Amino acid sequence: MSDVDAAADRETDVVVVGAGLAGLTAARWLDGRDVDVRVLDARPQVGGRLRSREVDGVVVDLGTQWVGPGQRHLRRLAADLGCEQVRQRAEGDALRYDGNGTHRGKTAIDSLPLPARLNLGAAVRLLDRRSGEVPLEAPHRAPDATAWDETTLATWRDGALRTRRARALFDAAVRSSFGSEPADLSYLSVLFAVRAAGGFERLTGLDGRPRTRIAGGVQTLADRMAADLSGRVHTDSPVRAIAHDEDGVVVRTDDESVAARHVVVATAASRVACLDFDPHLPARRAALSRRPPHGAVVTCVATYEVPFWRPDLSGDVLDEEGPVCRTRDVSPLDGERGVLVGQLFGNAARRWSERTRSERRSMVLDRFAEYFGDRAVEATGYTDVAWPNVPWSGGCCGAAFPPGILTTVGEALREPVGRVHWAGAETATRWPGHMDGGVQAGKRAAAELVGRLRTD
Ligand SMILES: Cc1cc2nc3c(=O)[nH]c(=O)nc-3n(C[C@H](O)[C@H](O)[C@H](O)COP(=O)(O)OP(=O)(O)OC[C@H]3O[C@@H](n4cnc5c(N)ncnc54)[C@H](O)[C@@H]3O)c2cc1C
Repeated sequence: MSDVDAAADRETDVVVVGAGLAGLTAARWLDGRDVDVRVLDARPQVGGRLRSREVDGVVVDLGTQWVGPGQRHLRRLAADLGCEQVRQRAEGDALRYDGNGTHRGKTAIDSLPLPARLNLGAAVRLLDRRSGEVPLEAPHRAPDATAWDETTLATWRDGALRTRRARALFDAAVRSSFGSEPADLSYLSVLFAVRAAGGFERLTGLDGRPRTRIAGGVQTLADRMAADLSGRVHTDSPVRAIAHDEDGVVVRTDDESVAARHVVVATAASRVACLDFDPHLPARRAALSRRPPHGAVVTCVATYEVPFWRPDLSGDVLDEEGPVCRTRDVSPLDGERGVLVGQLFGNAARRWSERTRSERRSMVLDRFAEYFGDRAVEATGYTDVAWPNVPWSGGCCGAAFPPGILTTVGEALREPVGRVHWAGAETATRWPGHMDGGVQAGKRAAAELVGRLRTD
């Protein structure tokens, strides 16, 4: 028996901290290989950043929304769980709002004036080409890694984009993917995220390709995994401390201490700094958890009797001015009702998370009226989630670090610390910070453990 587990209340093979997609996937994999697991989550429900609720009689997603193209880990998981994947309707024009009015096109880019469109196209091609030089397993080994990591995305943008309109649209697309401002992001880490998603337009949704949703709400994925793991998933169990030595770990919540052979930490990267490790994490890992990818988002949903913007408009809006940055039609496919989701990101999300829901409601409906006309203020239902205020959640959405992190301490991101393993979506090499990344990271951590458990 390890020194650290002398006084533990119970024992298991592996404790998983966090019942989001990453933690539940890791537990599911381990459970499928006859490893005894105990999943502990701080919140009253599983799912983490997946959150589906009924609003005005319609199930809507208030956290994660979209399964992007190429998210094969997530698609496979959904199929295994019997969750139907439905394709978003895409008929009608998209809108771009520039503060003076709306502009229509098949995609937001199509409505840019020609010089801006050409300028943006060339910059995006350059970004995509350069991202090919960034190794997914080790972005800090890219040929110009140090220089790129010292540069913010905003600095690169100012050199690459000459027209004001191209810059404004680029910034809005970046905000809507990373939940962060271009000035807060390392250029290297954005190149990494672009490569990991298969291209800038794919990552940001500027490609105009219809996205997929999970029928009945994305939280179904987590609920079904937790049901399969019945008895091994414990909510309302915030983990406070992790003691570890060469023989085992002890994980402490407010109510119990659990001895295990290994622990998988599957929280958002920013939550790692809140855990009390004994012994302390090595300096590089500790530094990483103090300066994690850290976006902000507020998701606002309005319901209507009918999707009155169709068939002319698709409901897709990229707003260069904000505060609402991105709006999309998320109406149920099998009914008459109309549903719009509007999202605020970065600085606007932080500012508006400090306001009341009723203030946000009137601001958001006013913005919708700018895009779709006065009928937009006649919402039959409204709700929102200001994610900066949600306990235990951490950043959103994509994973891009501030300058100077990836090249100095980034290699510690996935490296186990003795018997402590890492599995949040931000540790993925495909779609990091996204659902697909969460599933990939959970599987990777589980595979890492299966090997270790055999040789323990
Ligand atoms: C508003 C929003 C929109 C998004 N949109 C998309 C999208 O359209 N497409 C997409 O692919 N991705 C999207 N994402 C990102 C995606 O949701 C996440 O990348 C993914 O769900 C993360 O999964 P995870 O398991 O790594 O982390 P989480 O889902 O954050 O799970 C971590 C869990 O750890 C728990 N926890 C934290 N600290 C402790 C502790 N001390 N003790 C016990 N438990 C703890 C938390 O309660 C949480 O349940 C979005 C995210 C948000 C917030």
